[in-house]
Amino acid sequence: MDILDSNSVEYIVIHHSNRFFDSPLFIRMRHKFLRGWDDTGYHYMIGNGILCGDGIVYEGRSTDYVGAHSYGYNNKSIGVCLIGNYDRAKPTYRQYRALLALLESLQLKYTVPVVNVLSHNETSSCEKTCPGKLFPIKRLRQILQMLIE
Ligand SMILES: [Zn+2]
Repeated sequence: MDILDSNSVEYIVIHHSNRFFDSPLFIRMRHKFLRGWDDTGYHYMIGNGILCGDGIVYEGRSTDYVGAHSYGYNNKSIGVCLIGNYDRAKPTYRQYRALLALLESLQLKYTVPVVNVLSHNETSSCEKTCPGKLFPIKRLRQILQMLIE
């Protein structure tokens, strides 16, 4: 895995795992054994309370290394995955709260502006709905903007 230079981090990209019955361990196993990657593609995952803690932040790939989550953005972003399928339901309250707190701390650490907090489908390469049609990305950015004002 390539080293991620913290100075080159410009974006935070948000994903969903596309499955309600899912966990950080399952994601790691899919990424390692089905895709053949060295580790989980995401840097962080946030549980939905079904097979893992509701609103618990789990570490995936170390932020010392380039992730594997958004083609064209991996070497300049941190990847965060909400466990669940947000084409069919909204994130849980605790997931959303945990996401806001995580984004705030990552924005501070890497000096990422609110406009660079992106959903996967906003990156040019993504043809999917990730992180789901019901994920409120614009509302999320409005709240992040309010938090820094
Ligand atoms: Zn995605």
